[in-house]
Amino acid sequence: MRVVPVPCLADNYAYLVVSEGEAAIVDASEAAPIREALRREGVVARAIWSTHHHWDHVGGNEELARELGIGVVAHRSDRERLPGLTHPVDAGDKVSVGRLEATCLHVPGHTLGAVAYFVDAGAESAVFTGDTLFCAGCGRLFEGTPAQMHASLGRIAALPGRCRVYCGHEYTENNLRFAAHVEPTSDDVCAARTRAAALRGRGQPTVGTTIDDERRVNPFLRVGSLELRATLGIAADADDASSFAAVRAAKDAFR
Ligand code: ZN
Ligand code: FE
Repeated sequence: MRVVPVPCLADNYAYLVVSEGEAAIVDASEAAPIREALRREGVVARAIWSTHHHWDHVGGNEELARELGIGVVAHRSDRERLPGLTHPVDAGDKVSVGRLEATCLHVPGHTLGAVAYFVDAGAESAVFTGDTLFCAGCGRLFEGTPAQMHASLGRIAALPGRCRVYCGHEYTENNLRFAAHVEPTSDDVCAARTRAAALRGRGQPTVGTTIDDERRVNPFLRVGSLELRATLGIAADADDASSFAAVRAAKDAFR
């Protein structure tokens, strides 16, 4: 399996998931950079896998689908609003490209029809999380409840620890600033900031962290942390879903 990040718009990532000379396009944000990436990689596009309906993730759907003669996969609840949707899916459905198969996870919260695509290629695996799980962060709750988002993140966090995380935006450095604010003594957060700064300094993406990395540094997967709770004034005996809601609210207000 090869994963090619394709920077789009200001800070979005589309991806090519490549196997056997074929590619699935994850989140066709805009057509031009994806067309160029397909040409550069010398691969044939087989489908677009959309993580959610927001314009910055689907802006190139109709143009690329028409031009390449391919379909668009997305959650069935987005039938009426996701541009070009031809292959509605739900939790547990499989989609494939080349020799790879991806399992669709339904992860409501950022939007109600959000989907994550988990590609399990034996020794290697990857999950495409859109705006649900970011590296060191998570998406805002535009449509779902905190309880829904907390459960969705839990499903992603339960994937294998070595699974690579490919998210929809380059927000990592800012997210890690918040992580350092809520867990100031964390060596893992400190190391992650150094790594992210080095990558961004070279103009490279920070995506491709692992689920294990995220469990160690991502405040939204660490809502039980006593240091985090003390920093944000969350009761030590509060349940995880309420703690999650408080962490999300604190991040929304963080500058
Ligand atoms: Zn979004
Ligand atoms: Fe987005």
